[in-house]
Amino acid sequence: MNILVIGAGPAGLMFASQIKKLNPDWDICIKEKNNQDETVGWGVVLPGRAPHHPANPLSYLPNYESLDAQYLDAFKMTHHNESALKSTGLTLCGAERKSMIKAMRDLCIRLGIHIDYEQPVENLELASTQYDLVVVSNGINHANQFYREALKPNIEYGTNRYMWYGTPNLFNEMNLIFKAHSKGVFVAHAYKYSSDMSTFVVECSEETYLKSGLDEMSADQAEAFIASVFESDLNGKPVIAQSGLKWRNFMTLSHEKAYDGNIVLLGDALQSGHFSIGHGTTMAVVGAQLLIKSVHQHANNVIAVVEHFNTRVMPVMKLFDQHAQTSRLWFESVGELMHLSTSQIAQSFTERREQLPSLPEALAKALGYALQR
Ligand SMILES: Cc1cc2nc3c(=O)[nH]c(=O)nc-3n(C[C@H](O)[C@H](O)[C@H](O)COP(=O)(O)OP(=O)(O)OC[C@H]3O[C@@H](n4cnc5c(N)ncnc54)[C@H](O)[C@@H]3O)c2cc1C
Repeated sequence: MNILVIGAGPAGLMFASQIKKLNPDWDICIKEKNNQDETVGWGVVLPGRAPHHPANPLSYLPNYESLDAQYLDAFKMTHHNESALKSTGLTLCGAERKSMIKAMRDLCIRLGIHIDYEQPVENLELASTQYDLVVVSNGINHANQFYREALKPNIEYGTNRYMWYGTPNLFNEMNLIFKAHSKGVFVAHAYKYSSDMSTFVVECSEETYLKSGLDEMSADQAEAFIASVFESDLNGKPVIAQSGLKWRNFMTLSHEKAYDGNIVLLGDALQSGHFSIGHGTTMAVVGAQLLIKSVHQHANNVIAVVEHFNTRVMPVMKLFDQHAQTSRLWFESVGELMHLSTSQIAQSFTERREQLPSLPEALAKALGYALQR
């Protein structure tokens, strides 16, 4: 088969490397918009311990041990400057996005896949006639560049503003920190992803964002302000913004269908989900494995491949969307819960998604099916 993958992020790289491993003589080409040193974001949280967990992309990397991933078993909530610690009930893995993506790209190259950097795909019509299958894994950029009307996403913006900071302060647990500041409520999601850095995502309502003047601050001023809001939690350490990243409203992309003709959507391009449930990369892995399964079941019939993929992937994407939206809405109304005690707010946080079918169970089932080759 002759396959074009658009976007060298976790979704495209996972699909490309694993399908090539199974079919060394197939032609797989990846086109990437950015240069090879540009990666957006700091660390992400992944499920389980590599190399054992099939939804953790590190499990597929021969050099996973060199990535300095950090394992997290405890969850810490801080409210009214008082902390409550409990077990997460499962092991989570904090990993640096940049080194994870580099290792995934290295694996692709070792397997004989060509990655064309600084080659944004702008027109799909020609590509779709030149390749048997085109995999669109261009992340949330798909919102601006959906190529065809039939692939157009539904887009919804969250009402909170957020910023993805990094910090040299080490958060040894999954941390959720609520701050009732004079300008409004700020929430930080923080955990270590290497032995010297942590992710520190901050969110607040639009009102708090404007009241605190974040809209008019330079990047340096905003860093200093956020570091002062969370000074005691950061132990006086700074927060660092990546150049180009701005305070924004979370964008959810959704689709009713994962394909059009011989073009399929994968990863965030198919369905993005709020960072507060930390599942986007996991969904990219699950989607990629389901697509590989479909390709293998129907290799000589691309229409059957994409229809089979659609039937299998859409239910899990819908469930992911429900969990992510429920969680986003909870964080958008958290200002109303600030009067609660630490244990009450912890309970509300735990219960926010309990009425939904379990996402980890659905993903384990989908992956179990996909990996039966
Ligand atoms: C604040 C924040 C925190 C997050 N935390 C977590 C977390 O803890 N755990 C987790 O699992 N997920 C997390 N995520 C989500 C996760 O980052 C995404 O779900 C994941 O990166 C999706 O992978 P992808 O390959 O689909 O897209 P991306 O990683 O966005 O990759 C898309 C690639 O396509 C390229 N591209 C774009 N347009 C084109 C084009 N026209 N032509 C060619 N290439 C193109 C881009 O340059 C990029 O390299 C978080 C997201 C945010 C915003």
